Amino acid sequence: MTFNSLSLPEPIRKGIGAAGFTKCTPIQAAALPLALSGKDVAGQAQTGSGKTAAFLIPLLARLLGSGHPTLPGAPRALILGPTRELAVQILWDAELLGQFTGLTMLAVYGGVDYQKQREALQRKVDVLVGTPGRLIDYFKQGVYELSQVEVLVVDEADRMFDMGFIKDLRFLLRRLPPYQKRQSFLFSATLSLKELELGYEFMNDPVKIAIAPEHVTVDKVEHLLFHVEKKEKLRLLLGLLRRERWERVLIFSNTKIGAERLNEKLVRHGYQAELISGDIDQRKRLRVIAQFKEGKLPILVATDVASRGLHVEAVSIVFNYDLPQDPEDYVHRIGRTARAGAAGKAISLADEEYVLSLEAIENYIGFKIPVEWPDESLLTQEVGAEAARVRRMGGHPKPPPPPPPSGQSSRPSPQPGGERPRPRRRRHGPPAGPKGQHPG
Ligand code: AMP
Repeated sequence: MTFNSLSLPEPIRKGIGAAGFTKCTPIQAAALPLALSGKDVAGQAQTGSGKTAAFLIPLLARLLGSGHPTLPGAPRALILGPTRELAVQILWDAELLGQFTGLTMLAVYGGVDYQKQREALQRKVDVLVGTPGRLIDYFKQGVYELSQVEVLVVDEADRMFDMGFIKDLRFLLRRLPPYQKRQSFLFSATLSLKELELGYEFMNDPVKIAIAPEHVTVDKVEHLLFHVEKKEKLRLLLGLLRRERWERVLIFSNTKIGAERLNEKLVRHGYQAELISGDIDQRKRLRVIAQFKEGKLPILVATDVASRGLHVEAVSIVFNYDLPQDPEDYVHRIGRTARAGAAGKAISLADEEYVLSLEAIENYIGFKIPVEWPDESLLTQEVGAEAARVRRMGGHPKPPPPPPPSGQSSRPSPQPGGERPRPRRRRHGPPAGPKGQHPG
C-alpha cells in the first residue's frame, strides 16, 4: 500500500514526502485506514516497524481536521512514552512528518531543562510528547491542562508496565476528556492482558492489530562476518574503515567500557568519533545523536541500551564490533542501515568470546552470514598515540603496510562448542588501498 492511496491532508502528504516514505510498512497499512476513519487502534508492533508514523499521521490529520483553536497550556494531542529517548525520537518524527502543518510540538521529560520545558508548556502546544513523571509534576503545579486533548497515544505500553509507570499513566489518563470525545492509540511490543485492560479502560472499543516482528529490514542489508581474534579486532576495524566506502558508520560494542575504549582508540587514530552509552549525560547524548543525524559526525560508537530509539537514516555501515549476545539486538542494530528503502551493509566481527552467539543469530535471521577471513593486508597497523597526535596536527593516515611475505590469515582458535568450521570464502579481491572518506 502506498501513502498516495490514502486520503490525507496536503500538508501531511508533503511531510511524508519530505521524510522519504512512499510505501506503508505492514503496521501502517493495517493501522492507517482504520485510524484515519476515526477508530481507536491498539497495535502490537516493535520499534523499527514504522509504528511511530502509524500513530503520528492520523494524529496530525485529526488535529488539522478538527479545527479547534489551541489554547495556551492546553495541548490537543498527548503522546506518552516510557523514556526521554523515546519522547525525543517521537518529537523528531512528529516534527519531520508535521513540518508543513503549522502545528506546534513539544517534548517534556525528566533530567534536563526543568524551567525551560515548564515555560514552553505554558505556551500554545498542539502536540505534547512526554514521560509520565515529568508530565505529572507539571500537571500538579497547574502548568498545563488536559481538558482539550483530542488525541491520545500510549507508546511502548509494555515498557511502561515494566518500568513501573502504570500508576502515573493512569493518573494522567483519568484527567483526559472521556474516551468517546477523543481518539486513542496504544502501541506495545506485546499486547497481553494488562495492556489490553488498559486499552479497554481508556479507549473507545479499539481495533486490535498485531504485526509479527519483522525481519524484512535485514533482507535489504549486505551482511558480512569476520572471524577474528579479540586482540586483532581493532586492527581489522581500522582496515575495514579504510577499505570500505562510507559516509556514516555506527559501531556497536556489547559493553560500556568496551565502547569507551574503542571510541578513545578511534579518536587516537584520527577519526572523528563520539560515544553514546547509557550513562552519558543526556544533554551530550542528544547533541551527539543530533550531530550524527545531521551528518556532522561520521562515526558513532554505541551500546545497545544507549541506542534504543536512535533513528538515523542512511547509515552506510553498521559494525558489530562485538557480535550481540541477543539475536534480536542483531536485527535492531542492523535495521539502522537499511532504513527508508536504502541498502546498507552490516559487518560483524566474531571473536572467540562472542562467536558463541552466532548460531542463535543465524537461526533467528534465517540464513548464514557470509564469512570473509581477514588477511594481513586488511589488518592496518595500529598507530601509537604519538603518531596520531602528529597526524591530528596536520598529517594524514599512512596507507596500510604491505602484507608480510607469508601473509597468514588471522583466525581465532576454535572454541569448544562455539565456532563451526566454515569454508574459507573470499568476497572481495585484495584491498585496493584506502577508499573511505574519513578521516580526511
Ligand atoms: P519506528 O518503528 O516508528 O521506530 O520507525 C522505524 C524507522 O522506519 C524510522 O526511522 C522511520 O523513519 C522509518 N519509517 C517509518 N515508516 C516508513 C515508511 N513507510 N517507509 C520508510 N521508512 C519508514
